[in-house]
Amino acid sequence: MPQAMTIHEKLTEIANNLWWSWQSEMDDIFRRIDPIKFAEFSQNPVQLLQAYPPEKLEQRAREEVLHSKINWAYRRFHEYLNSQTTWGDTHAGLLNFRPVAYFSAEFGIHESLRVYSGGLGVLAGDHLKSASDLGVPLVGIGLFYHEGYFSQVIDEKGWQQEVYNEVDPETMPISPVKDASGNDILISVETRHEKIFARIIKIQVGRIKLFLLDANIPENSEEQRQLTARLYGGDQRTRIRQEMLLGIGGVRALKALGINPRVIHMNEGHSAFAPLEVINNRMHEDGMSFDDALRETAAANTFTTHTPVPAGHDRFDSGMIEEHLGPMADSLGLNQQGIMGMGRVDPQNEHETFCMTVLAFKTSRRANAVSNLHGVVSRKMWACLWPWRSEEEVPIGHITNGVHVNSWLATQMRVLYDRVLAPEWYFRTGDPEAWAGFERVTPGELWETHQALKARLIVYTRSRLMIQAARHKATDSELAELSEIMDPQALTIGFARRFAPYKRADLILRDADRLAELASRTDRPVQFIFCGKSHPADENGKAILQRIIQLSHTDQFKGKIVFLEDYDINFTRYLVQGVDVWLNNPRRPLEASGTSGQKVVLNGGLNFSVLDGWWAEAYDGSNGFAIGDGNIHVNPEIQDERDAHSLMDVLENEIISTYYDRDSDDLPMDWIARMKRSVQTLGWRFNADRMVMDYVTEGYIPAAGGLSSEMRTMP
Ligand SMILES: *Cc1c(COP(=O)(O)O)cnc(C)c1O
Repeated sequence: MPQAMTIHEKLTEIANNLWWSWQSEMDDIFRRIDPIKFAEFSQNPVQLLQAYPPEKLEQRAREEVLHSKINWAYRRFHEYLNSQTTWGDTHAGLLNFRPVAYFSAEFGIHESLRVYSGGLGVLAGDHLKSASDLGVPLVGIGLFYHEGYFSQVIDEKGWQQEVYNEVDPETMPISPVKDASGNDILISVETRHEKIFARIIKIQVGRIKLFLLDANIPENSEEQRQLTARLYGGDQRTRIRQEMLLGIGGVRALKALGINPRVIHMNEGHSAFAPLEVINNRMHEDGMSFDDALRETAAANTFTTHTPVPAGHDRFDSGMIEEHLGPMADSLGLNQQGIMGMGRVDPQNEHETFCMTVLAFKTSRRANAVSNLHGVVSRKMWACLWPWRSEEEVPIGHITNGVHVNSWLATQMRVLYDRVLAPEWYFRTGDPEAWAGFERVTPGELWETHQALKARLIVYTRSRLMIQAARHKATDSELAELSEIMDPQALTIGFARRFAPYKRADLILRDADRLAELASRTDRPVQFIFCGKSHPADENGKAILQRIIQLSHTDQFKGKIVFLEDYDINFTRYLVQGVDVWLNNPRRPLEASGTSGQKVVLNGGLNFSVLDGWWAEAYDGSNGFAIGDGNIHVNPEIQDERDAHSLMDVLENEIISTYYDRDSDDLPMDWIARMKRSVQTLGWRFNADRMVMDYVTEGYIPAAGGLSSEMRTMP
C-alpha cells in the first residue's frame, strides 16, 4: 500500500492551486494554523507552509483539531477537479479539445498574487474562477510582474507614494513550465533591434490553467529583464513591448505548450497583437493570403472593450510601431502603411496614431461592452469603424460584468444562504430559481448577520488606522484614540476604488459643511471609509486623495471620515462584506460597468450610486438608492454640481431616515426590506457565473463554430 500522505503534503498540494482562495473553510484552516504569520504573508499559504515544517504543522493541526477538516477539504478538492458533470460538459463541449484562450494584462485572483491593479484584473480573476466552477474549457494568458502593482503609502502631507516590492517566486503558487529534459520552455518576440525571451509560468486556478510570461530570465539583458517588472509601470516603449509579449508571445507560448485554442478572447485591447500572430501562422502554415487569414482568424475571436475614457485606449505613433512591429509586418507582407492601417479608423490617414482598441475590433468578429449603457456608448464611440451602418447596427453587443460569488460572499452570510436557498445553490448562481429561497430569511437574522460583519469591518479598520498612525510616529494616546474610533452602530458608508478623476471621490465633499452637519448628529450618526489608489502618473487623482486625507484629520471630520491605505483584494473583502451603503458617483457615462457594488449586494449592503454602468440596469426604485435621474448635462461642472446636490438630498432624506427608522425591536424594517430586494433582484444577475455563461453561449460557441453571426446589440 502506498504511504498515506501527510497533512503537510495535502495542504501543500491544495495551497498550490488557487481554488483554496474561494473556499472559506480553507482560509479558516490556514488562519488557524498561524493567524499572525498568515496575515504577515498576505494570506499566502505557500509561504506559511514553508515556515511550518511537517512535524511543527502536525503539532498545530493536533492542537487545533484540524485533521478531519483537512482530510475532508482534500477529498472535496479532488472531487471538484475530477467532476465530469459540469455546466460546461453540457454547454461547451465544442471547446473540449481546443479551449478558449483568455488574454488579459492583469489577473486579480488573490491578494498574495499582485499581478493586478484594480477592476479589470479582478474581473479577469473572477472570470477564471467561474470558468473553473462551470467547467468551461479555457486557459488564461497574461504576464508575470515580479514587482507587481505598487503598494500605496501616504506621506505626512497626505500625498501618495508608490512602493514596489519584489516577490520571491519561491514563495508563490507558481511553477515554470519545463520541457522533457527539464529546461524552461522559452518563447521570444523580436523587434527591429532586439529579441526578447520569456519563460512560461503556470498557475492553477481550480480546473483552469493560467500561463504568465516572465521576461526576468538570464537569456535577456538587464533592461529586458525589467520589462515585466511592473504592471502599468513604464513608458510607451515599455508598454508596447509588454503588449507584444502578451499578444504575440502569448500565442507563441500556447503553441509551445501544444495548446491550439479554438477561440481567442481579448479582455481589453492590451492583447490585440495576438491575432496578428495567429494570422501569421495561418499564412505560413496553411498558405493563406493575408485577407483570408484575417477573415478566418477574426471569426474565432471575441473582444471585450472596457472603457469609454479616451486615456484607457493605448495608442502608439508610427515610429514606435515600425520599430516594434516591423518584423511582424514583414512576415505578414504588410508595408508600413498596411500595418498602421490595422490600428487606424481610417487606414489612409497619416495623422492617425495606432490604436490597440481599433486593432482589436478589426481582428474580432464579435465584440462586446460590459453593461447595457456601455454598449450604447461604445456603439456611438466606435460607429466610425462601420461608417456604412447606423449606430444601432454597430456590431458591439454587451455582456454585463458580474462577480464570483464565493470569492466575495462572507462566510457568515454564506451560512445564512445555505439555510434558506436551494440545495447546492452554489453550483448554479446564474439561475434565478436558486436564489428564490432568500424570501425566507427573517429580518432579524439578516440584520444580525450584517451587524456582525460590520463590527468586524470596524475592528479591522481600527487596526489598519493604528498601523498607519504608528508609521507616522503617533503617540500612545493617539493610538488609544484610534483603537476605539468609529461606531459599530452608526450608518457606515464605504467608498473604495481607483482614484481616477472621473470617479469623483470628492463629490461628497463639495458641500463639506452640510456633510459635517449631517455626520455629527449624535442621534443619527454617519461615518465614511475611503480607500483607493491613484495611478502613479495621475496628479489630479492624487490631489483628490490628499484632500480627503487632510479632511479626515480635521476636527470637523475626525472619526467620521477615515482613509485606509493600500486598497487591495483583502481590503475589498472586509469593506464589501461590512458596509451598510456603498457609494459610487462616477461622471455618467464614464463608468463602463463597475463591479465592487455587486460584491456589496451579495453581503446585504445597499448601493447608492449614479445611474451609470451596471447600476443603470440594476436599480428598480426599491433595491438600493440612485444619485441623479440619469440625465447628463453637457457642461461637466454643472453635472457635478447637480449630482452633488442629489447625493446629499438622497443621503439626508432617504438613506439616513430609512436607516434610523426602527421598530420596537430596534430593527429598521424598511431598510431590511431593501436589503432583501437587493439580494433577490440582483444576486443572480450580476454574478460571474451568469457572465461566463453568457460569454459561452453568445461569444465562444458561435466563434468556435466559425459562425459569422455578431453579438446581439439590443438589450
Ligand atoms: C472589485 C474591485 C475593484 C473594482 O471596483 P469598481 O470601481 O467598482 O470597478 C477594484 N479593485 C479591487 C481591489 C477590487 O476588488
